[in-house]
Amino acid sequence: MRILTRDLGAHEGKEITLKGWVDTRRDHGKLIFIDFRDWTGLAQVVFMPKNKELHEKASKLRSEWVIELKGTVQRRPAGLENPKMASGSYEIMATGLEIYSEANTPPLEVTSDGLTIGEEVRMKYRYLDLRRPRIQKNLRTRAKVFQLIRSFLSGKDFVEIETPLLSKSTPEGSRDFLVPSRVHPGMFYALPQSPQQYKQLLMVGGMDRYFQMAKCLRDEDSRGDRQPEFTQLDMEMSFVKREDVMAVNEELLIKLVKEMYPEKKIQEIPFPHITYKEAMEKYGSDRPDIRKDKNDPNLLAFCWVIDFPFFEKTDEGTWTFTHNPFSAPKPEFMDDLLAQRNIENILTTQYDIVLNGIEVGGGSIRNHRSEGLKSVFRVMGYEDARIERNFGHMLEAFDFGAPPHGGIAWGMDRFMMLMEGEPNIREVIAFPKTGDGTDLMMNGPSEIPVEQLREQHIQVIKTKN
Ligand code: ASP
Repeated sequence: MRILTRDLGAHEGKEITLKGWVDTRRDHGKLIFIDFRDWTGLAQVVFMPKNKELHEKASKLRSEWVIELKGTVQRRPAGLENPKMASGSYEIMATGLEIYSEANTPPLEVTSDGLTIGEEVRMKYRYLDLRRPRIQKNLRTRAKVFQLIRSFLSGKDFVEIETPLLSKSTPEGSRDFLVPSRVHPGMFYALPQSPQQYKQLLMVGGMDRYFQMAKCLRDEDSRGDRQPEFTQLDMEMSFVKREDVMAVNEELLIKLVKEMYPEKKIQEIPFPHITYKEAMEKYGSDRPDIRKDKNDPNLLAFCWVIDFPFFEKTDEGTWTFTHNPFSAPKPEFMDDLLAQRNIENILTTQYDIVLNGIEVGGGSIRNHRSEGLKSVFRVMGYEDARIERNFGHMLEAFDFGAPPHGGIAWGMDRFMMLMEGEPNIREVIAFPKTGDGTDLMMNGPSEIPVEQLREQHIQVIKTKN
């Protein structure tokens, strides 16, 4: 039966089978050493010359070949332990070898942290880059974090619900990715910028508490902490006030840090609440970095930023929402919103969660009455017909008995980047895209044959940029 290198210690003196990769091979005169690698780490294997056939087979091994190895686990002689290897007190005397796959010389090495290797080659050969222990750790920790979140929220009666990817264009401040409809010529789905409307409709549907690890798609230029598709922990709760949503999230964040990152220290609990005004005046930013010691990689300074202005002026001089058109104003400004007066002073229920100067999440209490939502779009200068066309389904839903509700979404990629101390979100995503949205490994986006386009009722017009 296969064992993992991390368990060598439990098999001292016994014959075992390992399956994995050749990390490196060293010939020391007559002895051949290989560092064998599986997902749990490395183990040193020795091939002695006395078994000629086996020795000869081992002499052919090269880095990244995939093998099955049989051997006896021995304690290394005193003084020859390797403290850098988890299994460094042991070595394996090889008794058998099967080669599953040979490998071409990899175009990039996969044993280092990889941070100095050009990103293009790392992205093109991502399946090799994934073998790197650092990326393995990032993805495995990410999975554990997701697991912890799922069990915490499920334990608090949140229901994990998937919402559609083929959706309708929504104004969330970014450009939509569009998908042509074959069945409805000339019509398009939009990929969701977030599940915002669906999650609110789930509340109207009486689901009470929802969450989802949701893929969000926004057609914007990628930057260090942005990708055209990214993952949000998305949630929504019925019958809550701003403080209720913040409290559940704060509890989850504290638990997550304590259980997954015990070496890290949260600067202040409860998380400080900072108003937008105070943040701008004191820190010159609505994502204040309130760390008392910026050199400490284990210091986590969370804070909530609240009391944002609801609206801001566009370059054209009209009003637009600062965060989310579905937000409710703070209760004391509801009359102003409905009467569309005092616009510049209306504060929203929006709350952002900021960690070490980076926004990792945001949400709000929503307008659960159609009049409130309608007023937001009227302030923005939308004609009633346009409001009806874009949001008629939401307004109609709210008129069938909608509970007060609110929610939040965390940017999981950014969150994991910060927790893992990585320089950008690509290091915590299995298959990220480059800055211009290209998938170098799959070669996407790609041209589509004319027949396939015709079926979708699409004609491509090439424009010069
Ligand atoms: N849908 C919002 C966003 O993607 C989050 C929220 O308000 O719940 O930023």
